[in-house]
Amino acid sequence: MTKIRHLEKRFLSKHFEGFSLSSFQKNEKVINFSPGPSQIPRQVMNEIIQELKFCKYGITPLEISHRSPEFTTLLDRVNSNLRYLMKIPDDFSIIWTQGGGHGQFSAVPLNLSSLFKENISKANYVVTGTWSERAFQESNKFVHSYNSYDSTFHDNINNNKISNEQIKVSEEDVYLFLCSNETVNGLEFRRDGITYPCRQILKDTYSVIDMSSDFTMKNLPWQNIDVAFACSSKNLGTAGANVTVIRNDLLELLSDDNIPGILNWKSYTRNNSLYNTPAIHNIFIIDKVIEYYLKKGDVDVLEFESREKSNVIYNYLNKSILYNPQVNDVVSRSNINIPFTVGNGCEQLRSQFLHHCFLNNVVGLRTRTPFQNKMKEPLRISLYNGISLEDTEYLIEIMKDFEYSL
Ligand code: PMP
Repeated sequence: MTKIRHLEKRFLSKHFEGFSLSSFQKNEKVINFSPGPSQIPRQVMNEIIQELKFCKYGITPLEISHRSPEFTTLLDRVNSNLRYLMKIPDDFSIIWTQGGGHGQFSAVPLNLSSLFKENISKANYVVTGTWSERAFQESNKFVHSYNSYDSTFHDNINNNKISNEQIKVSEEDVYLFLCSNETVNGLEFRRDGITYPCRQILKDTYSVIDMSSDFTMKNLPWQNIDVAFACSSKNLGTAGANVTVIRNDLLELLSDDNIPGILNWKSYTRNNSLYNTPAIHNIFIIDKVIEYYLKKGDVDVLEFESREKSNVIYNYLNKSILYNPQVNDVVSRSNINIPFTVGNGCEQLRSQFLHHCFLNNVVGLRTRTPFQNKMKEPLRISLYNGISLEDTEYLIEIMKDFEYSL
């Protein structure tokens, strides 16, 4: 492990913003803990660089046609590998679209709108943070939707939590939408914590889950899911693409009249994701990332690693005097995005800490979000699959070093 660089506290900047992702010195590698786009596993990055550099097929994957046999083979492999990795049952279709997670914020209400009965049906949004709030606002443009959850996230992030008792489903709800891991607020549904609502609760209501920041990080109860989607910029590859997994018998019920082609799930399933030109370069990277995951095993291994990393962080934050995790509720706080403050939100200490991190090539802990005006701004540690246990332990070394030097 590299030696920690020190500056005496008085030399650490009191006005260091810490938004930059660049390294302290040219040619040094940073560890990027940012909430996304995020760090691609090093081994995968090296493989991509080699493949582009040596161009073993005489053409790079940046230049191939989506109608070529090369791309067909690649896409088929991505789909079957993802199905195996995530244990996706055969009665679900997998589609790849452009437009990231936001594309699906619109696609969900549009595609499901044909199931709505006028003046009766509703879409039920469980708003536990900023992303589900944004999805809720978007849905309102297309269907009658409501926020069924009494969320406190606007007022005080420390009191944020999810509770199963608060999730209520009514007969009029065509679908229930929730965000599996609130990337900004640091709240997460998972099988050993707050679980997704099961069929007894859902009854005839379909469940739609935004898994943009936790897909491939944990086992999913597919029996309780009808639609799941994830953008590609956290755990799958680079930004822009999106994967949506849809139960086939639900798809059959949908009418695709009047739905913009680019958001139309049925056009995509009928055309094996080739309704328009897909994000080829993106899917090339996703293929490499999934193959790397499969070398480790399946999602069980990724889930185990995710827990290991978050334990390292929480074990330290829980006993630290300087740093405080922002979400108090241990059952629903996220293992993936961990908001925390330095010295109870003291801006000067935060700057000095971020400067210390920068000197040691730790970046991404402070980011601009479009939601900042609504909440007190904490820093955030994001532990996606591209962050190794070693990276996580290194971060703790840096945090300890700063705390003990005060
Ligand atoms: N949902 C969640 C949970 C997210 O974290 C994000 C992106 N940070 C989105 C949706 C939006 O994804 P995109 O920016 O790809 O549209």
